[in-house]
This record gives sequence, C-alpha cells and structure tokens, in this order.
Amino acid sequence: MQVEMKPVIRVEKTKNSKISQVDFSNLPFGKVYTDHMFICDYKDGQWQEPKVIPYQNISLDPSAKIFHYGQSVFEGMKAYKDKDGKVWLFRPLENQKRLNISSKRLAIPELPEEIFMEGLKELLKVDKNWIPQSEGSSLYIRPFVFASGNGFHASPADKYTFIIACSPSGSYFAGKVKVLIEQTYSRSANGGVGYAKAGGNYAGQFYPTQLAVDKGFQQVIWTDDTSHEYIEEAGAMNIFVRINDTLLTAPTSDRILDGVTRKSILDIANDMGIDVEVRKISVTELVEAAQNGSLKEMFGAGTAAVISPISGFGYQDKTFDIPELKNSYAEQFKKHITDIQYNRAQDKFGWRYEVK
Ligand SMILES: *Cc1c(COP(=O)(O)O)cnc(C)c1O
Repeated sequence: MQVEMKPVIRVEKTKNSKISQVDFSNLPFGKVYTDHMFICDYKDGQWQEPKVIPYQNISLDPSAKIFHYGQSVFEGMKAYKDKDGKVWLFRPLENQKRLNISSKRLAIPELPEEIFMEGLKELLKVDKNWIPQSEGSSLYIRPFVFASGNGFHASPADKYTFIIACSPSGSYFAGKVKVLIEQTYSRSANGGVGYAKAGGNYAGQFYPTQLAVDKGFQQVIWTDDTSHEYIEEAGAMNIFVRINDTLLTAPTSDRILDGVTRKSILDIANDMGIDVEVRKISVTELVEAAQNGSLKEMFGAGTAAVISPISGFGYQDKTFDIPELKNSYAEQFKKHITDIQYNRAQDKFGWRYEVK
C-alpha cells in the first residue's frame, strides 16, 4: 500500500502543559519530556493514522513481542534553536534512512519517509517552546519502533508502534573519559546486528561496561569479536584516533554503526586538509603509539555528546595516558559541527534543515 505524499497528522494538544515546572537553566540529559509525542501504529499490513498526542504512558499486553524477543529499534537526533529562535535539525534524513536499515534487520516494517519527517516537524512545531536556546542545550529527539503485537511465539509481530518522544537536554559532556579496551566481551559479530540501532545491542553492553567501571574506567572500547585485536567503537559512539597528525577511524561494517557524527567528521577533516585514514586500527599499533608519544588523541563521536575526548586507555593490566593537547582535533571538530548545528556558521555541506 502506498501512503499519500503528505500524511495528514491529527493533533491533539494537552490541556495541562508541564513546561512551567521545568528549570531550563539546569537541564539533565534525557530525563525531562515535552508535552507531546508523535505516534503511528502499524497493523493489517499498513501504517495507520499518524497523530501528535499529549505525552503519555502506553498500554501493552504482557505478551507483546517487544518484551520477549526485543524486536525494537531506535534513533537519536537533536533539534537546535538559534539566537533568532529559528529551529534546525542536523541531517535528519540520515536518521530516517538508518531507522529503516535497522528495522529491516529486525524484520520490522519500514516506515515511509513522509510519516517520519512530517510527524517530526509537526511535533517540533507543537512543542517548539520546549527547545532550549542556551549554549550547549538542545532538544534530544528519540524516534523508535517496537513490536506491539503479541504472542509467545518467536516470530515477527503483526503490529508495531512508532513513537517520537523529545527531551530538552543540557550538554552531555561528562569530562574526559578513561576507557578499557575489551578483551573478552563483544558488542557485535559478523553477520549480527551491530550496524542496527537495535535495543538489545545496548542491553548487551551494560554488563561488560559495569565490569570496566568497577575497574576504574568509564567506558569500553569494543574490539572485533574474532581476535579482539582491532578497535571498533567507543561505548555507543564511533571511535577516532589521532596518530601524529593523521586522523584514523575504523571502516564501517556489519559490526559497526554508521554514525552521522562520524561521517560528518570525516567530511570536515577532509575539507580542512587533514590526513584521514579509514582503516583497521590494531591495539598493538595503539599501544606502540602511546608508548612512543605519537598517539595524540582518542575520542568517541555521536549525536548526544558530539565528541567525547578520551584521556587514557587500559589494555590487559596496563594503563596508557594520553597527554592534554591544545587546539585538539576533537575541539576543532566539535566547534565546526556545533557551529553548523546552531546556525552560527556557513553550512557548506548542506547539513542544516530548518523546521518552519
Ligand atoms: C548511535 C550510535 C553511534 C553514533 O551515531 P550518530 O549518528 O553519530 O549519533 C555510534 N555507535 C553506536 C553503537 C551507536 O548506537
């Protein structure tokens, strides 16, 4: 069934706005939710009427397949308000496409681009006053789809629910992190679901991450599942390494999530004339670079924090520090990206998307 080009979105506004109870000068990350949400159900082989409704609990049968088989995928994006109060998204179609890439892998029906984009824009219009304007703050947007159809039978559901919920959020930056290079556990494997933003991928990371935290680290660097010799991701972020002045990142594969921030950094770095290599990075090479002083930087890249600098890493029983660096690539990329996101700089790549 073909969905009409511009779906008609029914809007039901709340009678009890919570906005006056929110301290916008002291926002946590992802803990406060706006007055409305976008919702669209899938049944009888098609997506149903898309709606913006008051933010509310959802009711599910205990046998809904999401609870038993983890059939769910999500996205993470942000809306930014510039100094004139205009609202911007950053490469939103990348998230829309990726949601469907993830859905396909989890046997979830794909969502038409129009429902995603029109629903998102309508929700942002209704909750516009919730988009923070202060430096570093933004509206974190969480689109997700899950199996709402039921049955204690390990097979795809016949009903799904797509929701977009939003959270006005302060800066994600939690200082520099020390990371542990994982030698036992894996977040993904060849032929697996690592490239999908599937809920279960993150549940599987919690336990190994807790073990790393118990050892005094904040995050895990995931390595390839066969040899644990090549670094792949930093927690739920893509990984970058700077050796001398060369910027390195692992190539995407079915084990690695294709991050929008990663892609954007590669474009910016190329544009700045930085020497970039997208290739496998071995732990041996990293340890050698740390020992001979050529390892200048390591950082994670993702929508929430943009860039999360790494101050050192643990490998086997040793730890290696990465000395503080002035005018780091990490700082430069973060400034470049956020200047585009907040409409403070020219957008030569055409990444900004105005919500009117
Ligand atoms: C979401 C995510 C990223 C970063 O993707 P962005 O599009 O930059 O936000 C990287 N790795 C994993 C595992 C992720 O889930």
